[in-house]
Amino acid sequence: MAYTITLIPGDGIGPEVTEATVRVLEATGINFHWDLAFAGDRAQDKYGTPLPDYLFDSIRKNKVTLKGPITTPIASGFRSVNVALRKELDLYVCLRPCKTYPGAPSIYKDVDIVVVRENTEDLYMGIEYRGETPAAARLLRLIAEESGDRVKADSSFSIKAISRSASRRVVKFAFEYARQNGRRKVTAVHKANILKFTDGLFLTTAVEVARDYPDIEFETTIVDSLCMQLVRFPQRHDVLVLPNLYGDIVSELCAGLIGGLGLAPGANIGDDIAIFEPTHGSAPKYAGQNKVNPMAMMLSGVLMLRHIGEKGAADRVESAVAQAIAEGNAVTYDMKPDRNDPTAVGTSQVADAVIKKMKE
Ligand code: NAD
Repeated sequence: MAYTITLIPGDGIGPEVTEATVRVLEATGINFHWDLAFAGDRAQDKYGTPLPDYLFDSIRKNKVTLKGPITTPIASGFRSVNVALRKELDLYVCLRPCKTYPGAPSIYKDVDIVVVRENTEDLYMGIEYRGETPAAARLLRLIAEESGDRVKADSSFSIKAISRSASRRVVKFAFEYARQNGRRKVTAVHKANILKFTDGLFLTTAVEVARDYPDIEFETTIVDSLCMQLVRFPQRHDVLVLPNLYGDIVSELCAGLIGGLGLAPGANIGDDIAIFEPTHGSAPKYAGQNKVNPMAMMLSGVLMLRHIGEKGAADRVESAVAQAIAEGNAVTYDMKPDRNDPTAVGTSQVADAVIKKMKE
């Protein structure tokens, strides 16, 4: 059986890490048909838009996509192509497992955290009003009328909206994920002591959902306290579920705990569509140099293999990546204590080494 997967190489370093990952995935012996599609800069050049219609058709038809990072074009109407993609396809979960592999450049051992980030609302909805415009003036008047609060007249606004329905589905996902993956605890993260209505709603919804999962330990924590705890005792954390903005920040913090962006995989998941992509961006300054670490993208491929039910292949790829990290002979510059270490290898040599390990 062949799996048809939409493949978006992306921009900057995207094509290199994608090529390395495709080679590793094909070395599992699984038959893939890659439905190549462009988004971002290349689509902008070719079709005059970073998100052409045929891209959505392919993603909707194939349900599973492997995607490289996409540069956010400065001069397009999109705040972020990636945010627009998640919004249009209602990919409401951003899943980012952060695990330390022995040999990775981290000061911690045995970290195994899964960040479940709400992906569709909060401050990322793009509802913003520039200061000293008629819209901002209307908002100022409304606030004064409704609450009597005086907001400075030269303020700009970004609206934070959190709904019960979106909170419910992401928290439910976190518990289902915990149950299906043998995890012991879910922690709901918030700032409800200050943001009583938005984060307050996220928190009460999480407490309600948790009642349906008595087999999974549940706790709640304030986001600032979580950051301190993560840096001191990262091993105490398991599955974290967070609103969009905190999820974005905390998942990069967790990537830092395990050795950096070069090792942090991710997935954007909706009810029937999933896009697998690394946490990192397109790092344009390294584009075309065969230099950056493809492991975050390979590990995103591992998540994809698990998603399509190819668990054995997923375990083989993950184990080969882990062995390459542990041996440390065929790793990129970011995995070395000294970033100028001349023994660091390039992107495609990492793929060669991982494939070799899979065959041993
Ligand atoms: P970035 O993640 O692209 O790069 C930041 C730095 O992290 C790089 O300079 C590099 O030092 C390091 N890095 C990133 N990936 C690495 C890898 N695989 N191996 C080794 N080192 C790596 O972040 P940025 O510079 O803020 O963003 C560049 C562009 O990417 C922007 O246009 C941004 O909008 C976009 N972006 C896209 C996505 C996505 O497609 N999902 C995510 C984040 C940023």
